[in-house]
Amino acid sequence: MPIAVEFQNVSRHFGSVRAVDDVSVAIEEGAFFAMLGPSGSGKTTCLRLTSGFERPSAGHVRIFGEDCEGVPPNRRPVNTVFQDYALFPHLSVRDNVAYGLMVRGLDKTERYARADEMLELVKLPGYGSRKPAALSGGQRQRVALARALVTKPRVLLLDEPLGALDLKLREAMQDELKLLQGSLGITFIFVTHDQGEALSMADRVAVFNQGRIVQVGTPQDIYERPRTRFVADFVGSANVLSPAQSRAAGGPEKWVSLRPEAIMLTPAPQARVSGTVTGIRYLGAMNRVSVALGEAMLVATVPSGAALPPVGAETGLTWDTRSVHEMDGE
Ligand code: ATP
Repeated sequence: MPIAVEFQNVSRHFGSVRAVDDVSVAIEEGAFFAMLGPSGSGKTTCLRLTSGFERPSAGHVRIFGEDCEGVPPNRRPVNTVFQDYALFPHLSVRDNVAYGLMVRGLDKTERYARADEMLELVKLPGYGSRKPAALSGGQRQRVALARALVTKPRVLLLDEPLGALDLKLREAMQDELKLLQGSLGITFIFVTHDQGEALSMADRVAVFNQGRIVQVGTPQDIYERPRTRFVADFVGSANVLSPAQSRAAGGPEKWVSLRPEAIMLTPAPQARVSGTVTGIRYLGAMNRVSVALGEAMLVATVPSGAALPPVGAETGLTWDTRSVHEMDGE
């Protein structure tokens, strides 16, 4: 697959703030690529470097092989969908969607025909004459999507596009975005701080921390084989064992990660380790059981309905060695 967007040793510093710090990554054409990380980790700045609203302090951004240095945003084959939608309140939905075509000088008949096509695509046929204020949050988000797609970008940048929606709508939109991306075949680069969203939608995920990409891989790689404690914690509280703890539990003398769902509660004599139950959190389909082992704390998930030891009881914990993954370090 050709590379749609490539960062080569890209940095963007604002005074002493290293918003993006020596990032190198290649995003294939047609990918659904998520940039995942906590607030302030540099994700949005990477999108702005791609769209051309920001210029690198060092390094190169290439889009379909071309160095973008000096190429203004409107000359890049890229468009952005923003979290706050950024719709023009005084324009109708149709005029909002057609805006990019008007800027490009298309006549009204053609603009409106293409805008209506896009409204159809995002399942809002017949909404063209409404004003944005007369739409729900989810509908506004679709209009923003239609507006970004109408100019046929080869790369669509999405900056927390579902952040303002409630959970149910967000999940529905996640499915729709995924389907839309598949059918259009456009490269999507999606910024989010929601790990569930990144893992469920993307085919590759880059995890950001302090302006750097700390791991990039498939959702399975990121979830099952976090390479550092930061990724393990951020992507969903995997257990991390120090080299000494791992060795004491019969594993390698290395920093390792172990998913909570890989740990089983068993009677102490048959267990790898044993400890004291310090907390049980009911999460609907399952319970999260915290077990203190001296200094360490391990969390196991147990399906609801299974027998649980009470808080304060001793329990054994066991797991399959194949569930243990060595990390690069702490
Ligand atoms: P969020 O999820 O909160 O949007 P983010 O991961 O997208 O965060 P960025 O918006 O890329 O993070 O910001 C990275 C860092 O750069 C932050 O510390 C931010 O305050 C800083 N920063 C971004 N833009 C500017 C600017 N124009 N001037 C100064 N500092 C900036």
